[in-house]
Amino acid sequence: MRWNRIVFKLGATFILIFLVVLLPLGFVIDKIFFGFYFSQVQEDIDQLSSRYADAIAQSKNPMMVHMIGMMAEFSHVYLYIVDEKGKIIANSGIPGLPEGSLISKEEVGKLSRGHSIRKEYVDPFYGTQFLVSGKPIITKGAFYGGVYVLSSIEAIHQSVQRVRYMLILSGMGAFFLALGFTFVLSRKLSDPLIAMERATRQIAKGKLDTRVKVTSGDELGSLAEAINDLAKNLQRYRDTRKEFFANISHELRTPITYIEGYAKILRDGLYESEEEKKQYLDIIHQESKRLIRMIEDLFELSKMEEGKFDLHLEWIDLAEVMESAVRKAHLRANAKGLELELDIEEDLPFVYGDGLRMEQIFINLLDNAIRYTEQGKISIKMWREEGNRVMIHFEDTGIGIPEHEIPYIFERFYRVEKSRSRAHGGTGLGLAIVKQLVELQGGEIRVFSEVGKGTCFQIMFPAEPIKSGEAKR
Ligand code: ADP
Repeated sequence: MRWNRIVFKLGATFILIFLVVLLPLGFVIDKIFFGFYFSQVQEDIDQLSSRYADAIAQSKNPMMVHMIGMMAEFSHVYLYIVDEKGKIIANSGIPGLPEGSLISKEEVGKLSRGHSIRKEYVDPFYGTQFLVSGKPIITKGAFYGGVYVLSSIEAIHQSVQRVRYMLILSGMGAFFLALGFTFVLSRKLSDPLIAMERATRQIAKGKLDTRVKVTSGDELGSLAEAINDLAKNLQRYRDTRKEFFANISHELRTPITYIEGYAKILRDGLYESEEEKKQYLDIIHQESKRLIRMIEDLFELSKMEEGKFDLHLEWIDLAEVMESAVRKAHLRANAKGLELELDIEEDLPFVYGDGLRMEQIFINLLDNAIRYTEQGKISIKMWREEGNRVMIHFEDTGIGIPEHEIPYIFERFYRVEKSRSRAHGGTGLGLAIVKQLVELQGGEIRVFSEVGKGTCFQIMFPAEPIKSGEAKR
């Protein structure tokens, strides 16, 4: 049993708060009730004594004293009557006050002046306490004596005790109810936390398919969702890492196998003509170049992904950058008989970026468009869009990309048609680099494509705010 558990901590806090509130409350209720009951009894005996005093004063019948004595018994009170000298002439059985004994002179004096008496009396034999109310008997201004009514304080204590028991009982009931409620509530809070702790420990051990059940929409629910997302991302990261290493070894092995094979042929003199030898040397040269490119690309990508990539950011004119990239691609497009169409809007706003890296993006996309287009044209459009953005479209009439492959083409080493891409000299890293470069410069890239019709890469960059409605160039 771990006392450090949240269920105990929460439970103890609730119970403590409950006790801090309930105990003083019970104490105050008890005091109020006791005081109220006490004054109520005092008032009752005051009323009784004045009623008896009035009755005796009016009737003057000696039997009346005995009748009142009997009535007092019914009312569970005691009574004694004194004459004008303070001598007890009637007593309903109060021990220590026999008939004929005298009450104090001051009291008789008070009564004769028409005052009431309130006092406490302790029975000398049993020690029983009584509340006493005395009233004068006055007829037509003449003083005839007094009536005393006594109520046992013991009885008051008993009644209050009964109420007190009830109070304690209901307090205890409420306490146990709160205890049960607190226990259930704390379990409801702590159970999902324990489940999440177990799941995270499993994930830490490498069981990345572990998931937590999301049972509520509150903070605990969103914590469970966050843990699940973390596990999913870790799983994806692990899978892509595995895939990446498999790809990289395959990609590096292919050119090395070519180089190794052709170098062996040349070394062993297994060629027939000088022309054949030159052909093999060409292949070795091509594959070495591809290997160098791939290593350079990989190095760049890893620097970008680690955030260690230096960009020389400044306000640049994308139109100039695009014109330079198109000039470089012109020859290759012409060699394939493709038309290159360039349409740049006038007064394009500047974009905050790295000129060289922007050119790398454009050249990469133009190279791809030329590489995967056999006939038709490649058109490039650039304009300012609402929301102060510069839009760039690279559209070709090439082979297109199948719809289900579009989500993956920005991944490292992803190729639509593996053999065709290799034949075109691609490494499968170009688009991954383009995407990283676009995003590092605050832009977004999207692609739309249809097999057999063509492909359109769309790039957006945030542009310089326009001053007084005029674009700066
Ligand atoms: P690669 O070096 O193989 O061209 P990329 O990362 O540049 O690698 O492109 C990934 C894949 O996307 C390519 O293998 C190709 O199949 C596809 N692709 C890229 N650009 C185009 C395009 N303009 N038209 C058709 N397919 C394209």
